[in-house]
Parts: sequence; C-alpha cells; structure tokens
Amino acid sequence: MYQSFIGLEIHIHLAAETKAFCGCKANFGDEENTNVCPVCMGFPGVLPTLNEKAIQMSYVVARALNCKLSPNTKFERKNYFYPDMPKNYQISQFAEPVGRDGYIDIEIGDSIKRVRIHDVHFEEDAGKMIHAGDMSLLDYNRAGYPLLEIVTEPDLVIGEDAEAFLKSFQRLVRYLGVCDGNMEEGSMRCDANVSINPVGVGLGEKVEIKNLNSSRFVRKALNYEIERQSGLMDNGTKIIQETRLWNENRDQTEGMRKKEDANDYRYFPEPDLPPFRPSDEFMKEVEEGICELPLVRKQRLMTSYGLGSDQAEYIHDEKFMADFFEKAVFLGADAVQVYSWLSSDVKKLLNRNSQSLEDSNLSAERLARLISMIEDGQISGKIAKRVLDHIFDEDKDPDVICDEQGLVQISDPAAIAKFVDEVMAANEAVVEAVRGGDQRQMGFLVGQIMKVSGGKAAPAVVQSVLKEKVLG
Ligand SMILES: [Zn+2]
Repeated sequence: MYQSFIGLEIHIHLAAETKAFCGCKANFGDEENTNVCPVCMGFPGVLPTLNEKAIQMSYVVARALNCKLSPNTKFERKNYFYPDMPKNYQISQFAEPVGRDGYIDIEIGDSIKRVRIHDVHFEEDAGKMIHAGDMSLLDYNRAGYPLLEIVTEPDLVIGEDAEAFLKSFQRLVRYLGVCDGNMEEGSMRCDANVSINPVGVGLGEKVEIKNLNSSRFVRKALNYEIERQSGLMDNGTKIIQETRLWNENRDQTEGMRKKEDANDYRYFPEPDLPPFRPSDEFMKEVEEGICELPLVRKQRLMTSYGLGSDQAEYIHDEKFMADFFEKAVFLGADAVQVYSWLSSDVKKLLNRNSQSLEDSNLSAERLARLISMIEDGQISGKIAKRVLDHIFDEDKDPDVICDEQGLVQISDPAAIAKFVDEVMAANEAVVEAVRGGDQRQMGFLVGQIMKVSGGKAAPAVVQSVLKEKVLG
C-alpha cells in the first residue's frame, strides 16, 4: 500500500485597480497591449513602485490564513527568459515573504481538516502568449498584474481533498474581497504537486502538474497521477522529479520538463525596491479587512438559526447571500422560510434571468415582507410566488404589487361560498360521488374552487365551507 502527499500552489490576481509596480490598469478583457508602460515592459532605467493597496490585500490573505506576518517583507528578482515576460525577470519574494507558517481549516465531507500553509508571497504576473496556427501572439496587458501565491504543505491525500480545498479557498478570497476567484478567466490558478511512497516512508519524488484551470481538473489530474505513480512503483520503476501537464482532452498527465530548483532561477534582491515595513496604521487596516470567515459563518448559521448542514452550506456559499439571509431573519422572517425561498423560487428566477442575488431587484426587506404577508394570511403561498415574479420584473415592493394587481387573499366565508356554489353546480356528478363516500374527489373540487377564485381563496376556508356544503 502507498501513501500519497499532495500540495498546492495557488495564484490569485489581487483585485487592485492597477498593476503591482506601475500605474497601468489591471483590467481583464481590455484590448491587447493597451495597458502597458515602460515599467511593465522592462525598458532600461525605469523604476518600479510598490502598489500599496495590493500589498495590503496580500497581508489580509496571509492573516486570514493564520500566517506569521513579516514586519519587513522583501522582494527578489526571479530570473528566467520567456517571451511573455519582457523584463526577463519577475519581481517575486523568496527570503522574506509576506507571511509563512499558517494554516486553514477546511471541510472535507463531514470532517474538518487542517491544512498547513508554507508561505504566502507577492509577485507580478507574466503576459499572455496566444498560439494561433503557426504564429504566437503576445498580450502584455497581464504583465505586471499583482499576484499572490499561496503554497500549502503536502497535507492533502487524494484529488477530492484538493478539489475541496480549492473551493474553500475560492470562497475565502471572495469573502475577503481580494479576488473574484474565477478560474476560467485565470484570476485564480492552481498548480499541484504529488508524491507517493510505501506507507510510513514519508514524502516521495515530487511531480508537479500544471495547466489545471478548474477544480475538477485538479481532482482528476491528481487521482490520475497517483494511479500512474503507483503503477510505476509496483513495477519497480523509479519516479523522477518532473513537471507534467494535464491534457484535458485525453484525461491524462504528460511529461513536460525536469523540475527547476530554486537556485536555477538565480534569485537575488531586487535593487530598485526597498523592503516593505508595515506601519501600525497599515496593520490596523489589515485587521479591519478580515471578516467572519466562511467556515465559521457556516457553523454559526447552523447554531444560531437551526439550519441543517446542507442548508447552511447553500446560504454561506456567497457572503452576499449570507448577509441577505441574516438581514431577512433580523427583520422578523422565519429562518427556514427564508432558506426555502432563496433555495427554490428565488434561485429559479435568478437562473432564468442569469442574475446574481446582488444584481436582482429582490432585497432582504422585500423577501421578509413577502413572508410576513403569507403568515398574516394576506396572500397565499401561490400568490406570493406571483408577487415575487413581479418584484423581479418591476422592481416594486410587495405591498405595491398586491395593490396594483388586486392580489389579496380572500378569506371571507361568504365570498368563498359563492365560488363553492358555482363549482358544485358545475360538477353535480362529482358532488354526488363524494356524498356517496368517494372522499378522493374532494381534492378535485378544492382545486376547481381555487381556480375559479383566481388562486385568491384561502385554502383552509375553502376546505371548511366545501365540507359543510357537501356533507352537511
Ligand atoms: Zn505599466
């Protein structure tokens, strides 16, 4: 039996407006080579300036990951040549990163696992090479984007662990507002490394896998690699330290190159940037940048509002939704009711409109009001769904919609008796059948009465009036 060890290197684009060391815009999707300047293009004699907003976000992430924060963080040049990097070196951190020796607790299945963080370091991104037929095109808009790299210890075991870690981490950076976590657009990227050995021997030869642009590919590539390495070990073949690429069309990893060692990069101190020493004021702002983290929030949603694990999982997934939920409950709505609306009818409308809750016309106040109108018997659940539709389409409060559309529940027995008489007269045979003992037909009559009333009759009153009229 073998034991496997997985570590991750995650890169996130920090949501700063400008690049790491110059004033160019850091915008995804702009026209190629429009956000460039002599600094990020590596012209001779230019000087980098540190983006303080981006370095602050870096400290926030390191703090959220329980790292030891550096009081004196330094920058190094990492030297290598590649066409997408006009300077031929990347400003990164090596000796004194923003944070190190941290950890994060994540939920894998039903259990909580602590994953150690080796370090969190700040660096700049390279440009983008686009291959088109026999040509290669270069877009330098991304060159110099502020990046944060998070390196975990090899504490994960199988592909599913890595997938769960990435999802938790993605949620974390979204909660902190430092990155949109979008793996498809490349604002969050992941390289994974994995080694195996017979149980008890410890870490084996490390194989790094690149080109993983979704958490699903991370899982598949790692599980593929564990199997591949186990096969080699079974045959007595030596596993070599190398970098492999995930081929998503063939569902396999393929050899790419022997892994560089850190000293292949000839790291040396960046002579043009002084070390960054956070002031007390800066550290205070870092503390203020920390919010209640997702896992803690999920647990609190369960204990404070009596939600089940699956319900809390759904509500806490996005910070906006969790805030919305708590606000609606604070305004008096029942927690499980709020969950039910958010996870069913609201979700359907959001999907239909391809909208996020944040962009929709529904507010916590409006949902809380809608729920209280049902509880007070003002409208039925069925009408409430129609009102919700109108809220989405017309951006109006539920009371206004009910007034305008005449959507009020009818619970006056005399008014309901008229609907009952109408339906009984039109369905004499059914009425006779019920009188003869066929109780199942009652449901049909109730349905007809609801229909005749335009869905406005209070179902409980319909039931009692109907029973009295049919059975006496
Ligand atoms: Zn620039």
